[in-house]
Amino acid sequence: MKYRSTRGGMTPQPFSDILLEGLAPDGGLALPEQLPQVSAQTLESWRSLSYSELAAQVLGLFIDDIPPADLARLTAAAYTVENFGSVDIVPVKPLDHGVSLLGLSQGPTLAFKDMAMQFLGQVFEYVLEKRGTSLNILGATSGDTGSAAEYALRGKKGVAVFMLSPHGRMSDFQRAQMYSLQDENIHNLAVKGVFDECQDIVKALSSDLDFKAQYRLGAVNSINWARIAAQVVYYFWGWLRVTTGPDQPVSFAVPSGNFGNIFSGHLARQMGLPIRRLVLATNENNVLEEFFRTGVYRPRSAAQTHATSSPSMDISRASNFERFVFDLVGQDGARVAALWKELAEKGYFDLSNLKSEFESHYGFASGVSTHADRLATIKSIHQGTGVLIDPHTADGVKVARAFVEPGVPMLVLETALPAKFSETIQEAIGQPAPAPEHLRNLGSLPQKVEVMDCSVEAVRRYIQDHAKIH
Ligand SMILES: *Cc1c(COP(=O)(O)O)cnc(C)c1O
Repeated sequence: MKYRSTRGGMTPQPFSDILLEGLAPDGGLALPEQLPQVSAQTLESWRSLSYSELAAQVLGLFIDDIPPADLARLTAAAYTVENFGSVDIVPVKPLDHGVSLLGLSQGPTLAFKDMAMQFLGQVFEYVLEKRGTSLNILGATSGDTGSAAEYALRGKKGVAVFMLSPHGRMSDFQRAQMYSLQDENIHNLAVKGVFDECQDIVKALSSDLDFKAQYRLGAVNSINWARIAAQVVYYFWGWLRVTTGPDQPVSFAVPSGNFGNIFSGHLARQMGLPIRRLVLATNENNVLEEFFRTGVYRPRSAAQTHATSSPSMDISRASNFERFVFDLVGQDGARVAALWKELAEKGYFDLSNLKSEFESHYGFASGVSTHADRLATIKSIHQGTGVLIDPHTADGVKVARAFVEPGVPMLVLETALPAKFSETIQEAIGQPAPAPEHLRNLGSLPQKVEVMDCSVEAVRRYIQDHAKIH
């Protein structure tokens, strides 16, 4: 299987080559030339598999340049009881009225990004070792992505992580989670600035092509194909857990930001998994809900982007959305390139002529959830079922409720645990979220962090002194 670009301008490449790249050379995103199909019979044969065995099967459909036995070893190392707290790895937790949670946040950083990152950590190490090379991951984080990447890559051979975070602007929990890592290949750089300035430094250094090549800089951002592929697995897992035989429809609701998580659901559906609806939930930053309601995609400016109580969904534009548009316009790369050119010129594009297909052909539905909705949903679920959900998951539950149908299980993707967002939990139910047992003393662990000036040169020097370059 080879991968092409959504803009049609890349020579098809194998998985291991696109794994280590960001954008395609033509500015597009990587997608398989042909999506593998899964028959009802194959699907039934997967019912008894463990999560890591299922992951090896599903990922094996996308990866043909890693031998199946090696791939099975990588998924077994990623999806362990030690990392995810139970043999299920992804437990299904019933709520009420046909709605259940798909428990994706049992991993080391308590958010669904661990699901893909833990696999990425394994496959990075494997491919780098095969090639006898190294990689220095440079990124900026305001929370979830950076910590998931650090926990996945800690102690891995051939990889170092340089993660910039805004000094003094993350929650105590997030700081403790990242900065308590003592591994020699993890570098926390607390920059005296805001998140956008951290990102600007990352951009400046990665667009310095000589520096980038000399120090083998790479990224693990949300457009990474291996992350998308690893996320496809849990849609299959969820379906297998709540059905008893072939062709039974299941709907999924997904708290969305960059359109990565729900795009994996779209792939699962296109591969033949009987998904009835893909329900996209946004918070007040509703650029995606607006698209599915009107057919117009209009990214926002930073000033138009609200800071909400589901912060990991505070996006101005959705970086994976282009992958869906590629399908919408009949996999026509030239058309996608033209749409993104139009976007750059006019600030929006209009696909309202295709609107009837969003739901009828692709199964999408969408809705918005506000701060008041989050609080009310957290409270009512807690009162009614005793289960505490985080604010992002609450957005998913709120929007899902409008699309529940008799006889169709609705699985809401649990994208984080409440302990990560305790302030909002306190506001909703009058008491903080309990921290998981093994993290009770996180705040008292020693922290390893380099505080530095908000300057490209300071970060450049640090990388020169600490990068892996063999
Ligand atoms: C990243 C994240 C999201 C958004 O996921 P996308 O793949 O960007 O749509 C939602 N909730 C939480 C808790 C996250 O960390």
